[in-house]
Amino acid sequence: MRSVTILGATGSIGQNTIDLIARSPGDYRVEALTGARNIARLAADAIGLGARLAVTSEPALYNDLKDLLSGSEVKAAAGPEAVAEAAARPADWVMSAIVGAAGLVPGIEVLRRGGTLALANKETLVTAGQLVMDLARRTGATVLPVDSEHSAIFQALTGEDLDAVERIVITASGGAFRDWPLERLAGATLAEASTHPNWDMGQRITIDSASMFNKGLELIETKEFFGISPDRIEVIIHPESLIHALVGFRDGALMAHVGPPDMRHAIGYALHWPERRDLPVERLDLARIGTLTFRAPEAARYPALAIARTVMEAGGLHGAAFNAAKECALDAFIAGRIGFLAMAGVVERTLDRMSAQDGLQNAAVDLDTVLETDLLARHRAAEVVTQFAAGDAVESGKGLRS
Ligand code: NDP
Ligand code: MG
Repeated sequence: MRSVTILGATGSIGQNTIDLIARSPGDYRVEALTGARNIARLAADAIGLGARLAVTSEPALYNDLKDLLSGSEVKAAAGPEAVAEAAARPADWVMSAIVGAAGLVPGIEVLRRGGTLALANKETLVTAGQLVMDLARRTGATVLPVDSEHSAIFQALTGEDLDAVERIVITASGGAFRDWPLERLAGATLAEASTHPNWDMGQRITIDSASMFNKGLELIETKEFFGISPDRIEVIIHPESLIHALVGFRDGALMAHVGPPDMRHAIGYALHWPERRDLPVERLDLARIGTLTFRAPEAARYPALAIARTVMEAGGLHGAAFNAAKECALDAFIAGRIGFLAMAGVVERTLDRMSAQDGLQNAAVDLDTVLETDLLARHRAAEVVTQFAAGDAVESGKGLRS
């Protein structure tokens, strides 16, 4: 029986992971589940799966969680340190599905003890890719990609020599606004940005898909995970979301990974790796699908892509600053303080300021420096958000929400 821990168990990836595990209860013992605000879901799943420990990252919710778990064998804990401690407990397989930079430290705990980390939390590689991959090599830990594009690349590379790879193409649905007239984008509302044409995901990644910040994060994730140079990584819009990525080899062959837009495939692949087992995902009827289409992403529609490419090429601490600024800009959009297009404006201006003042080129990066950069970028981005919210964005062409 394998022991498993799920970090971010109450979210979209976490719930899909639980769905797979709950289908073969005899195969798994659940060590720990973690969540944040949704303690009712956390407690119900922890009791249902017989977990040893349930942790909320919110210290103020400790007593409520304890009450919900009373009468069961499940222990309760709370706070970010308790989430990291849950990750450090021995378990054969850990799903990293916390959203945002908060996933970094718990993931590192798993790598420190040489464990197996199924990585949905892309921010781990965006903020600290080199550090994370070096650590995994040193401790003998295993990192398995769960982001659908990276799982697809990983599968296409099985049995192949990385030196024979000429390019990697990651696909993007184009998000909620791929067919909108450009002039409407500045006025896009939160509800409109929170609807994905193909995937059912958490709200933050859904909005990041509309802006393509998500694809920007994935560019950096690709570079860091596969150690491939930025000029070999491409993004193509593929509205059907059936091809998740393609790997091009030096002989001209292009290997595509094709499957339904269902995260249980990538999660299940990481769960059973290196074997393949039955998974409850739709089998594609190619004759019914008929056509797969592709188009180049427009720079004006997706300014986040060019920003991410610059960040990917610069390396060092740029990824940590980029991600933190993006998280702040996203918070400000969700709170109604800035408009949809202003998110890219906030990130760009924050990075410009930090590049000039804060030494983002630092190549030898340790965890403390990454966390400091993350914090600093949040401060800088908060100042920039205030400027944008006050209206000085209008002259720079980044429209405010009407
Ligand atoms: P959700 O928002 O659905 O879930 C996030 C999870 O993290 C929840 O369990 C939430 O708890 C918890 N959480 C939130 N804030 C904190 C915090 N500060 N500390 C600890 N835990 C926290 O996100 P998704 O499942 O959509 O995404 C998770 C990660 O996977 C992201 O990095 C995303 O980019 C990545 N990913 C997601 C995909 C998807 O299909 N959803 C696809 C590919 C990658 P609670 O809900 O209890 O508040
Ligand atoms: Mg993805």
